Amino acid sequence: MGKKTGFMDYTREEEQKRHPLSRLDDWKEYSQRFSEDTLKIQGARCMDCGTPFCHMGLELNGLTSGCPINNLIPEWNDLVYKGRWKEALDRLLLTNNFPEFTGRVCPAPCEGSCTVAISEPAVAIKGIERAIIDKGFEEGWIKPRIPERRTGKKVAIVGSGPAGLACADQLNQAGHSITVYERDDRPGGLLMYGIPNMKLEKDVVDRRIQLLEEEGIEFVTNTEVGKDVAAEQLQEVYDAVVLCTGAQKHRDLNIEGRELKGVHDAMDYLTGTTKSLLNSGFEDSDYIDTEGKHVIVIGGGDTGADCVATALRQKCKSVVQFGKHPQLPDHRTENNPWPQYPLVFTLDYAYEEAAAKYGKDIREYCIQTKKIVGDEQGRVKELHTIRMEKTIDASGKAVFHELPGTEKVWPVDYVFIAIGFEGAEHPVLEAFGVETKNNKIHAPYGTYTTSVEGVFAAGDARRGQSLIVWAIHEGREAAREVDRYLMGSTVLP
Ligand SMILES: Cc1cc2nc3c(=O)[nH]c(=O)nc-3n(C[C@H](O)[C@H](O)[C@H](O)COP(=O)(O)OP(=O)(O)OC[C@H]3O[C@@H](n4cnc5c(N)ncnc54)[C@H](O)[C@@H]3O)c2cc1C
Ligand code: SF4
Repeated sequence: MGKKTGFMDYTREEEQKRHPLSRLDDWKEYSQRFSEDTLKIQGARCMDCGTPFCHMGLELNGLTSGCPINNLIPEWNDLVYKGRWKEALDRLLLTNNFPEFTGRVCPAPCEGSCTVAISEPAVAIKGIERAIIDKGFEEGWIKPRIPERRTGKKVAIVGSGPAGLACADQLNQAGHSITVYERDDRPGGLLMYGIPNMKLEKDVVDRRIQLLEEEGIEFVTNTEVGKDVAAEQLQEVYDAVVLCTGAQKHRDLNIEGRELKGVHDAMDYLTGTTKSLLNSGFEDSDYIDTEGKHVIVIGGGDTGADCVATALRQKCKSVVQFGKHPQLPDHRTENNPWPQYPLVFTLDYAYEEAAAKYGKDIREYCIQTKKIVGDEQGRVKELHTIRMEKTIDASGKAVFHELPGTEKVWPVDYVFIAIGFEGAEHPVLEAFGVETKNNKIHAPYGTYTTSVEGVFAAGDARRGQSLIVWAIHEGREAAREVDRYLMGSTVLP
């Protein structure tokens, strides 16, 4: 432990962010790294408590508490405080293949369960994690680790999101020959197309892919397994297959007017924007442009927030986000005690930007869309809504009642539907004939084996839409089980 009284001497500082209005003029990352002096102080706030809940990685009350990859947080906090950066990096890389992703976009369930957070703001764990890895790259400490021996075993990984990448990295380091198949034109899964550039710049993703390639992993893009290449072909050529195909089957809104021009799924909007940005800096005009338009985002979650931030950068005329649930409280309620993930009101980056531009929170709570109305050309023009009241019934279930007299008509040019994901997309699962359950691949946690011999599954395809940090966790664990399957025992953690 660096400074015994650090948690009493120093207060938490937030990572620097560029001014909300100025960042609307570009697509660069909005958050910036702590300075080294600040980091030392922030590292010193860690109490090195006997039981570091921050790295327990459990699900409590359906929410993630602590770090799912069990990052050795108190150890690297202490090393950062002492200025021993290289050692901090070595400790970080023991458990996390890609801290440059989690250090930028993880919602940091570690901080919600930090012991300091019982009475004070948590240690700034995520910001410290990012600084360690960024410094590692800058100092040239991150070099390709080319495996010294090869086992002669070949593994195909389907899907190049964080689960597929973590699995590939681990198995490659164990000496197996890895090919990653990706149906999109660039590897990275939702890291590349999903999470917008202002949260995670794409050269950060490219840098990691390039490193993995230099280490010997082969990436085959523009190739949909089950369509462009048969499942049987993979099973014949490879000793094992790991399905990391994500859970991108999105929920749709089955209401009147859904088919109108200008009504889109959120993922089409976000993916198209990033593709156009990367391909041509928007010169190709191959994206949905909301400049000067009224935008409504249906769905109160993070995907919706990313749509809001995207529309703001496109200089939309107005943007509103509809959510079904009431606004979260400012402080934890009795039902949400520490060390559970704190369900409290926050001003995420998109809302901070919207508030700076329009002078208010652009979220509308407890609202239900009844129908979408179009003009004579079949273009969306209005959205009809009603307010709802949320109550809890005798069995503890949330029940929503419409409130008569609260009907409203909203003028709109673009509607983006961001109401979540149903689960894994089925064609590839059917091609392999793997058993599914509740729209997910049935592969028990811990073994990751599917109903088909030699075929494993990890990440969102197995657990449903989740977080990058869980995808990395599952990719690592599945790699361990594949290694055991191929070699009889395993060298992987
Ligand atoms: C808009 C959005 C924003 C998000 N923001 C955050 C965030 O800020 N922080 C966070 O922690 N989490 C965030 N998430 C969730 C996080 O991105 C996912 O939980 C994570 O990416 C899941 O990783 P994965 O590897 O399992 O799947 P994915 O990242 O979905 O990758 C699956 C890959 O498989 C490919 N694929 C599918 N089928 C085939 C096939 N047949 N052949 C070849 N390739 C195939 C897909 O093209 C895709 O590239 C966000 C999600 C969305 C949608
Ligand atoms: S990966 Fe996420 S949960 Fe784990 S230490 Fe980093 S920010 Fe915290």
